[in-house]
Amino acid sequence: MKPHEPMAVRVCRLEDIVPDTGVCALVGGEQVAVFRLADGSVHAVGNRDPFSRANVLSRGIVGDLKGELVVASPVYKQHFSLATGRCQEDPSVRIPVYAARIEEGHVVVEPRQQVRTTCPYCGVGCGVVAVVAKGAIAEVRGDRTHPANFGRLCTKGASLDQSPGAETRVLHPEVRGERKSWDEALDHAAARFAETIERHGPDSVAFYISGQLLTEDYYVFNKLAKGLVGTNNVDTNSRLCMSSAVAGYKMSLGADAPPCAYEDIDAADLIFIAGSNTAFAHPVLFRRIGDAKTRNPALKLVVVDPRATVTARAADLHLPLRPGSDVALFNAMLHVIVREGLADERYLAAHTEGFDGLRALIAHWTPERAAQACDLPAADIEQAARLFAGSKAVLSLYCQGLNQSVNGTFKNSALINLHLATGQIGRPGAGPFSLTGQPNAMGGREVGGMANLLSAHRDLASAQDRAEVAALWGVESVPAAPGKTAVEMFEAIGRGEIKAVWIACTNPAQSMPDALAVRRALAGAEFVVVQEAIRDAETCDYAHVLLPAASWGEKEGTVTNSERRISRVRAAVPPPGEARPDWHIAADFARRLQRRLRREVFFGYASAEDVFREHRESTRGRDLDITGLSYAVLEREGPQQWPYPEGARAGRTRLYADGVFPTPSRRARFVATEYLPPAEEPDAGYPLRLNTGRLRDQWHSMTRTGLIPRLFSHSPEAEVNIHPQTLAGLGLADGSLVRVASRRGSAVMRVRATDDLRPGDAFVAMHWGARFTGGAGTNVLTVAAFDPHSRQPELKHAAVRLEPFAPTWRAVLAGFESGAGRWLQRFDYASLALVEAGQESLTCVELASAGTPDAETLAALDALFGLDGAEARLLHRDAKRGIEKRVRIEERVLKAFRLTGDLASAEPFRQAMLARSEVTEEELLSAAPAATAGRAVCSCYGVRESEIRAAVSSGADLARLQKELRCGTNCGSCLPELRRLAAA
Ligand code: SF4
Repeated sequence: MKPHEPMAVRVCRLEDIVPDTGVCALVGGEQVAVFRLADGSVHAVGNRDPFSRANVLSRGIVGDLKGELVVASPVYKQHFSLATGRCQEDPSVRIPVYAARIEEGHVVVEPRQQVRTTCPYCGVGCGVVAVVAKGAIAEVRGDRTHPANFGRLCTKGASLDQSPGAETRVLHPEVRGERKSWDEALDHAAARFAETIERHGPDSVAFYISGQLLTEDYYVFNKLAKGLVGTNNVDTNSRLCMSSAVAGYKMSLGADAPPCAYEDIDAADLIFIAGSNTAFAHPVLFRRIGDAKTRNPALKLVVVDPRATVTARAADLHLPLRPGSDVALFNAMLHVIVREGLADERYLAAHTEGFDGLRALIAHWTPERAAQACDLPAADIEQAARLFAGSKAVLSLYCQGLNQSVNGTFKNSALINLHLATGQIGRPGAGPFSLTGQPNAMGGREVGGMANLLSAHRDLASAQDRAEVAALWGVESVPAAPGKTAVEMFEAIGRGEIKAVWIACTNPAQSMPDALAVRRALAGAEFVVVQEAIRDAETCDYAHVLLPAASWGEKEGTVTNSERRISRVRAAVPPPGEARPDWHIAADFARRLQRRLRREVFFGYASAEDVFREHRESTRGRDLDITGLSYAVLEREGPQQWPYPEGARAGRTRLYADGVFPTPSRRARFVATEYLPPAEEPDAGYPLRLNTGRLRDQWHSMTRTGLIPRLFSHSPEAEVNIHPQTLAGLGLADGSLVRVASRRGSAVMRVRATDDLRPGDAFVAMHWGARFTGGAGTNVLTVAAFDPHSRQPELKHAAVRLEPFAPTWRAVLAGFESGAGRWLQRFDYASLALVEAGQESLTCVELASAGTPDAETLAALDALFGLDGAEARLLHRDAKRGIEKRVRIEERVLKAFRLTGDLASAEPFRQAMLARSEVTEEELLSAAPAATAGRAVCSCYGVRESEIRAAVSSGADLARLQKELRCGTNCGSCLPELRRLAAA
């Protein structure tokens, strides 16, 4: 039996079932309704009717409804597809589907396989149960046994069953666009790398990898670069995410080790959130904070954020500081704590050093001075300081708002200073706790997979540490000089110093700051290998060699979440096409490269577990010692925190409980944190401060989440947000198109006024790229300046200006076809969103240009949506006014349309497509304009903000909203917004 094939159950003889009826059977412990149809086929679905909650579907009537085989529940008569389990009346509801077949006259049903694994998105690291049926992941649910989420998932995690299909994947190796075998592609890559290394030295090549790789993948890439090639030019997109947190921990506490655990949320009496919209970026964790507050109404929440985010609106005290001024705020809070005698002198004397060096610095940071720097009332700064010092247990949670800054390391250390001064560390509910952005940024650091790190938290600058790593790998030496970090790496590629680069599992053409410069560097590079799962990722366009990588649900390994907890990632289904796990590709390449370089380094791993064992050994005696862990222990005991040394029975929940720190003096260090303003302050030419951040339902560059219609409903298009006063001052209309310009590039998007922002500030979500907005996305605006200690770029602060954009040409297209994204860059403005349409995905594209676009592009888009063939009809044309209405109607149902010039009918046309109702050309021509329904707050049930506001204005509270509209009753990611709307 193949590994992904479950044991099938023989239910009964085919002739025992009367045609067009069903029977009930127990398969894998689940009640299954098995149907025999008159055409001789058999089908199996879950027997439970989700509406009546009765096990009755085997007694339902089966038949064809709107071209789909369905079973009608005998109770409330809802219809469920026998192919997908989806309810026709409510597409958000699905019942399980099982593989059924006839074997030797018997009906055989395969039980659904349940695979415990981990979510591939944020650093909360939620446990996921993937249910496999008919060889595909049919359903996901939260793993109730996983200590990170106890069964909860946010919208992103809960949509993992809608993973990208094979049509979106890289399926075969390619060399310059031509399909090749693995041998051909890897031999070619090895030859080019070997030739480059021999001619120009090891530092002429580089590896740019990802915090979404598994620890095992990371380990092999790191060994390949440092052990085989002999370069430290291996860096990752974690540089954009967590390096300042790492540098801050090391500077203040001596090691890259978050001291806290999620259970500290339950024990804290003050949660101090800085630079994190936790409700959107780490939704499951934010729900845990909500639960803690419900249980303990005395728990206080202070939020430091320039924006009044959903997180900030839930706070007892919100400090909307000037972007980038966090160090000034924290220094002033420390000033107040010292001035008012609130410091923990006993803790200071026993466990810290360097406080005297800090005294002089903070003496200058009076609340009044910080009030100027931060644009906050001095009284609020004092209140925050008193709350911090006066609480029994303070837990700080922080993320990119502190990290993505030229002052990022000091922002982290200034916050840690507050914890040290008040003794708020090493106790339940107390400590500085960085929230990891990516699912395995920490695992990457554990293996030393970055340009300035060494395996198992060893120090690159230490000859002894380098010798230890060399001995572990059986090589003469590992290089001492730090390699190029992310920004430096792409600059060196641009200068031609790095000639060959290998990019795995990340999309730098979109995610790096100053994206146009990165694209120019990639376009001019001598040799680029891209190892990627998703075909449309922008970086694939620059690949000389493109290698198909396995994705989530298809590979084995481990990841480490924000609280140092190592979880297993398991394969539920085989990868499509010729895709392979990332560690496997790297090891195969390494074996070929070492033959050419005539070097001997072990890369003969037979499995991910083999790699894990070697990594585990490298941690022996280190702060993150996991010599007591194995795949078997993780299988038996579940996810575990490090350290977990040999002989341990459990990992350590909390670090530094004894007040002993991994520094030479064994004391934690106060750092004299000087405040540095952002690299690019606003000026007359670029007067606004641009901040970037995350949407609730999208992940990174949307290569995966951007394929799932449901995940567009909360934020369907790229917008720049500004304060209403700023909007009025610029003479712009709310909802109009504007050009957002920085010194590096510009993007056209819609402007929205919101009092969530401070006057003079602007905000754009970081996710939008060329496939959804045209241009090169948000990061054409951002700046590549980086923190001198962490080398993390300042993605969250750039100076921009907004200009009105008046298009002379506009169009809206819609159709059920995919692939429009590749044409968007040809327009000044573009917005592509997917809309859930039963089992299909409706692509809606809005376009605008300052001039008429070329006819070839329009013809290509028409062809894509079938608006050029025999079934296409020109409903209306007014050449003088540039108006055209083109549709494709099949069997009296509207299948696609393009409106040019006059877009007033776009919404009724779109509604007609979603309803699949019969329409005539006359009806379409006379359709009355309609407003869009607006964004959905609850993505799971598609409940719109307008519906919620209407219910609230008629007196509904949260409970009534949940009962009547069902919003917030599935994944719960929208609960913070619902609470806010209900209280409005
Ligand atoms: Fe995944 Fe959401 Fe959990 Fe993050 S909070 S790990 S995105 S399910």
